[in-house]
Amino acid sequence: MINVDLIIKNIMIVTVNDQRELINNGFVAIKDKKFVAIGKTEDLEAEYIADKIIDGEGKALFPGFISLHSHLFQNALKGLGRDKSLFDWLDSSVRKAYGFINYDLILAAATAGCLENLNTGATTVLDYQYCHAHELGLDDAVVEAFKRTGIRGILGRGHTKVVNYPGLPPCPIDETEDMFFADVDRLMNDLKDNDLISLALAPGIIWDLSTEGFKKCAEYSRKYNMPVTMHTLESIDDDIFSLEKYGMTTMEFLETTGVLSERFIGVHCVQMNESDFNIFKKYNISVCHCPVSNMILGSGFAPVPRMIAEGLNVGLGADGSASSDTQNMLEHLKAASLVHKANMVDPKVMSAETVIEMATINGAKALGMADKTGSIEIGKLADCFIFSPNTLSSCPVADPIAAIVYSSEPDNIETVIVGGEIVKENNVLTSYSKEEAIKDLAKRAKDLREEVSLIETKWGQVSTL
Ligand SMILES: [Zn+2]
Repeated sequence: MINVDLIIKNIMIVTVNDQRELINNGFVAIKDKKFVAIGKTEDLEAEYIADKIIDGEGKALFPGFISLHSHLFQNALKGLGRDKSLFDWLDSSVRKAYGFINYDLILAAATAGCLENLNTGATTVLDYQYCHAHELGLDDAVVEAFKRTGIRGILGRGHTKVVNYPGLPPCPIDETEDMFFADVDRLMNDLKDNDLISLALAPGIIWDLSTEGFKKCAEYSRKYNMPVTMHTLESIDDDIFSLEKYGMTTMEFLETTGVLSERFIGVHCVQMNESDFNIFKKYNISVCHCPVSNMILGSGFAPVPRMIAEGLNVGLGADGSASSDTQNMLEHLKAASLVHKANMVDPKVMSAETVIEMATINGAKALGMADKTGSIEIGKLADCFIFSPNTLSSCPVADPIAAIVYSSEPDNIETVIVGGEIVKENNVLTSYSKEEAIKDLAKRAKDLREEVSLIETKWGQVSTL
């Protein structure tokens, strides 16, 4: 008998491996954070022993979802600046609050955001943390939230120039590009031995770095094999700015800086023209699709079915909860399918299988982590969740692949495992108290709203809860 740490048996396994194998009455053995055996229960059960054995009879095992784009600090700004277009929304929520966001608020917001991700099956999240205007070291709050909740985290070290805009509250810190790269160096050193948390570069948008800044991002990305992620073509403003300043489109300009590669993740990519498609294909750039954010802000329809048909790698992101209002990955999976079926008047353009690929293996590929996570395969990290069919939303489940995309709720995600560690078991989050996280975030967000006067409704003053 081979001793392992955890066994899950009698379960249907949706592997999302290269052959997209489904294993009925499946068995997985997990040891030292990784899958060490995968197969049929009848073939493997006699060979392995563990202190902890989960009987998954009547349930299904999926690879953990990867949320490829979030701004976890925005959990404190949920529901604000609603029913506005991108820049009006930014001015009335994020930018207005920007200079008041401190370490404790980010820690509370990111903790709740990580728990919401875990609670809905996301075992990895890329947090694009661009809030650095109130005090130094705010990214450490996100790192602390990753650690306390046990989620696999990629800290996207962001950089923006949104501080001190006319008409908005002044910010104490106006970060320079030198400060940005110095902090990237510091974080690389801090995280060098951490196998749960890694680093990405996250310039905010085309106007947030100089040409030299983008060249330096290219150099860091190459040297340290680090993803670079950026809001790209979310609106036509990117190209308007780029054409005026550089006499080239956004993607043409980025190409001249050397920053484009298979490590580049373009977020949103709603306004893609023919030349953009060619550049994305030339450099094997990944796309992060954020359908709920695109719908809430009225940004338009990213041409995701065409991207997939032409071989681009497309992952899925929740975006910040100020513009998507939820980190619930199940909502983002469902939206990713429905929005394109309706837009293209064709139910075949975005199947449940395609959406699950986006939310798992494609996200891992975008992060350069496809050898580590994104599917259930021997040698990969044991990042996965057990789907239980027993909820009012999904019952009866004819097909768990369809159910997870179209009719699930958080209670369907019964058990969640990150790197072999159970972080949700039998519908209870175990790594950090959900109640504590909600209480802390609610209080700090309420204080922020009152301090910055963030509440507006068409019907007058609402009672703040
Ligand atoms: Zn974003």
